[in-house]
Amino acid sequence: MAYPAAGDAPAARPALPTIPLSELAPFALFGSVLALLLLYFVGAEQGAVSLVGGSYIHEFVHDARHLLGFACH
Ligand SMILES: [Zn+2]
Repeated sequence: MAYPAAGDAPAARPALPTIPLSELAPFALFGSVLALLLLYFVGAEQGAVSLVGGSYIHEFVHDARHLLGFACH
């Protein structure tokens, strides 16, 4: 492979595709809702604010709760 010399023209770069914000917004909103839902179940699904009865979800995400530094016990 030959390296370009100092006087050579720069190599053409491929054009990057652009995504309009109006097409990206629904996916960004859906991802944000999923992320907030996951954050709720990991960080706040316990006790008085619990949406699901019992401690199944709390125990399921218990290691993630400690890993992320949420108060637990
Ligand atoms: Zn704990």
